[in-house]
Amino acid sequence: MGEFELIARHFKRAALSRRTRAAPSRVTLGIGDDCALIAPEAGMAMAVSTDMLIEGRHFLSTVAPERLAHKALAVNLSDLAACGAEPLAFTLALAMPRADEAFLGPFAAGLFACADAHGIELAGGDTTAGPLSICITVFGQVPQETALLRSGARAGDDLWVSGRLGDARLALEVFRGRATLGAAAFEGVREAMERPQPRLALGSALRGVASSAIDLSDGLIGDLGHVLAASQVGATIDADALPRSAVLAGQDVALQRLCVLAGGDDYELLFSAPPARRAAVQAASRLAGTPVTRCGHIDAAAGLRVLDAAGQPLPANLWHGFDHFA
Ligand code: ADP
Ligand code: MG
Repeated sequence: MGEFELIARHFKRAALSRRTRAAPSRVTLGIGDDCALIAPEAGMAMAVSTDMLIEGRHFLSTVAPERLAHKALAVNLSDLAACGAEPLAFTLALAMPRADEAFLGPFAAGLFACADAHGIELAGGDTTAGPLSICITVFGQVPQETALLRSGARAGDDLWVSGRLGDARLALEVFRGRATLGAAAFEGVREAMERPQPRLALGSALRGVASSAIDLSDGLIGDLGHVLAASQVGATIDADALPRSAVLAGQDVALQRLCVLAGGDDYELLFSAPPARRAAVQAASRLAGTPVTRCGHIDAAAGLRVLDAAGQPLPANLWHGFDHFA
């Protein structure tokens, strides 16, 4: 199967067959020409983000192709969510060792299932032979003035986080043989790792409410650090208030803290908002159907303070040193 046949069979037809979106497609020219054309609504800025997934670094070779495709698109959509943008379209640059039907069929199915769930279209891409890697670029639209940025956090703002943290890292620890779970519990956390759900509805609902936002891909401590640097502020986090699943809450406290503070792969939104907007944050949460938890506040003093339930500071090496946990 040649490159063009592969594109036509797995990506072009599927792109044209999908039409779940009530609104007209913003992709006015799709796969097949030298460029795709995307027309955002009048007055909207285009929001663009790219993420690459490389086998062995970002995913395990054991992951099912449907799930891999879902995750590759979902993590990109999570970036749009963090900006409060509405997704319109995406492109796919795919390298794989050979044109493997057993891989491509389920990969395309997983990709379009996620695309259809969000009403977006595959507008183009590139296909080449090489070590398995997946690079997706998403295109969205957002009103320029209310796009959520990392730089808007102000001293006195509350810090909030969506959903639950740490399950994806717990699944990774199980894969690494550093934690053990029963079969049902493992399936739950594995789902969190392999099928993250981008918080697009929450991101949109937080426009005009949140003062800053970021999506959690590398772990709360690291990602919050980006917000603090961009906003030139500090923060205090209540580590034991961070939301977690019952499965994670049943683990050793040190492992729990590692997973919620530095877990990575959560794809939840971390955002700040003035205390006067608490009711508006709760309203956005209800509108989006996504739970949110208040977990700290922004300080004028630089640096990050992480406290336990008793208000005692946790040492920074707690989460850094944890990798040696065996
Ligand atoms: P060019 O050589 O002009 O870059 P290509 O031959 O790479 O064009 O691609 C032909 C068409 O197929 C283009 O419209 C491109 O966007 C699309 N395409 C290529 N690979 C993919 C893919 N993996 N998914 C979706 N569209 C693709
Ligand atoms: Mg090309």
